[in-house]
Amino acid sequence: MTCLECKKDLPDALRFRVLEVHTLHIRDFNGERVIQALGEFQEYDVCTACASEEVQALLLPAKRIVMRCIPFAVLLVVGIALSMLLTFGDFMPALRVIGPMAIVVGIIGIAGKVREILSEREAVSKMTRDDAVRYCAWQLVLRNAPKKYGDNDITYIPVNDDTMRMSARELAENYGLIPAIANQVHLAFSQEVSVLCFKRKVHSE
Ligand SMILES: [Zn+2]
Repeated sequence: MTCLECKKDLPDALRFRVLEVHTLHIRDFNGERVIQALGEFQEYDVCTACASEEVQALLLPAKRIVMRCIPFAVLLVVGIALSMLLTFGDFMPALRVIGPMAIVVGIIGIAGKVREILSEREAVSKMTRDDAVRYCAWQLVLRNAPKKYGDNDITYIPVNDDTMRMSARELAENYGLIPAIANQVHLAFSQEVSVLCFKRKVHSE
């Protein structure tokens, strides 16, 4: 098993089976259209060491907050500098707005990121250790698995008890699928259920 995060071959890993959905966004005179197609089933592994490290990083998120807020902090500083510079010259009013706008976007961005990281921290802190490790391993799959297939964006739908129990409508709502593709995913999952039941039956005999 090769860990998707550290690329090492480790026996102690969590395996995720996923179904890919490819989405192409087409922008033309009529607005935006979405074309979706069913991709392949894939399997990804994440070692428990990487997943545990991710749990720690989420529970003590100071470093992560700093790293993710840097772009907005830069925007904030540039906004303050621009506001001060443009105050002292004979600039068009439209130009004077740029500085304060950058400050506002910077502050909103920092507040949003901090809130996002802290709410994820709270959610993980309430999980059991095993659930937290599994949740973090899944986040590492989403972070490291390919995001594009040609020009298409890739969405990964985990194959697990929760998703296999979902109706086509629930799959569409949870993973942003168009109805035709949601039906295909639902069908593919019901075939997975039959295969799993068959394997379990063989295993128990
Ligand atoms: Zn690893």
